[in-house]
Amino acid sequence: MTEHDGYQFFKVIQAYLDTAAEKVGLPMHLREMLAQPKNELIVNFPVRMDDGRMQLFKGYRIQHNNLLGPYKGGLRFHPEVSLDDFKALATMMTWKCSLMGIPFGGAKGGVKCNPWELSPDELMRVARRFTHSLGNNIGPHFDIPAPDVGTNAQVMVWIMDTYMNTVDHTAKNAQRAVVTGKTVTCGGSHGRAQATSQGVVHCITEWAKDNRFDLEGKTAIVQGFGNVGSNAALILGKLGVSTVAVGDHTGYLRTTEGFNPHKLREHVRRRGGVEGYEGGEAITRDDFFAQEADIFIPAAIENQVGTKEANALQVKLIAEGANGPLNPEGEAVCAERGIEVIPDLLANSGGVTVSYYEWVQNLRSETWELEEVNGRLERTMKGRYQRVQQYAREHDLSLRIAAYAIALENIGQAFKERGIFP
Ligand code: NAD
Repeated sequence: MTEHDGYQFFKVIQAYLDTAAEKVGLPMHLREMLAQPKNELIVNFPVRMDDGRMQLFKGYRIQHNNLLGPYKGGLRFHPEVSLDDFKALATMMTWKCSLMGIPFGGAKGGVKCNPWELSPDELMRVARRFTHSLGNNIGPHFDIPAPDVGTNAQVMVWIMDTYMNTVDHTAKNAQRAVVTGKTVTCGGSHGRAQATSQGVVHCITEWAKDNRFDLEGKTAIVQGFGNVGSNAALILGKLGVSTVAVGDHTGYLRTTEGFNPHKLREHVRRRGGVEGYEGGEAITRDDFFAQEADIFIPAAIENQVGTKEANALQVKLIAEGANGPLNPEGEAVCAERGIEVIPDLLANSGGVTVSYYEWVQNLRSETWELEEVNGRLERTMKGRYQRVQQYAREHDLSLRIAAYAIALENIGQAFKERGIFP
């Protein structure tokens, strides 16, 4: 397995910034400012566990930049998170929102914990205590969290409810927009749960159209079978693409007939991972990466595809559902081998796009129909995909650096127009 410890994710993201900043001639003072987050918050908070013990947890919220709008970004509950990981992920959110033309800045945060080992009640108490510790460092017009690895719509609802209870009771209902990715009953948007994966698939269909590649009857492999991975498999299935290998933190599986994504997702919900699912044969992580297929969707965590994995891959296209799944060495091998990569900044931006729709709906007390949400998302994703492709062609750049360059041009222009106060 690619070693997570010691991987300098933030340095990797900063190197992409440097390369793109060079290409667009971003002034040095702005490069220096954007290289570091504006605010880095760490909180330590106690939680009462089911057995009565008090356990101390460490939580983070990194606010990278709010030039274009309120800070925005997910909350990750995972045992292997670090300050630098959150700095990397927060920075990516700034570029992602800028690339997509969404009036948000970038943030990320979460709690160092193992959500798969917490009971539902413990998970709730961690979420509530963490929210309380963050206090007014989050807010509907300041910093708006969303789900990420280890968190989901239910966690967002607990956060919303906790936050609401910390303000004056007359202002409670105005706080609904403090988080996005909530359940629809509690103010979430139709289509948000599937939005990230739907966006990934819009990129894949645009790629297929441009390359005259008929998706019907084709195959995919998916790493991570949580929100993004399972929904991607489901949506691809509707286009006739079958998922022939999957894997997560519990193990890896293969089947020649293609998985039933509904059944596999049900198994994951019950058992916490794909391991033990009867509809597939257990394989090793190495077998997974060597599995022949047309498309690979990494939808787990960063730094999963290094030199070894990239050399093993037998696919034509990688669409990054996860943030940073390819490390730079892995990406270089893919480029040499002619495996096209649709980068995270673009491919997984459907999530924050529909989060923005949710925020707008909350602020206006509106509920949009699923068709409206999906229609807007499709136009945005396809439009941005074509813009990144065009920019990459015109400037002879990889899609990743083209996506960064567009994001930087936009933010650079905003900075030029605003300047600094006073
Ligand atoms: P999730 O918690 O629902 O699923 C995460 C999956 O990753 C699980 O299947 C888990 O088993 C797997 N995983 C965790 N550690 C692993 C490891 N070491 N090896 C293999 N698998 C591992 O999270 P999610 O929301 O689906 O997020 C997945 C990725 O997508 C993350 O990189 C996240 O940042 C990115 N992303 C998510 C959203 C969103 O809307 N949820 C939006 C944009 C990007």
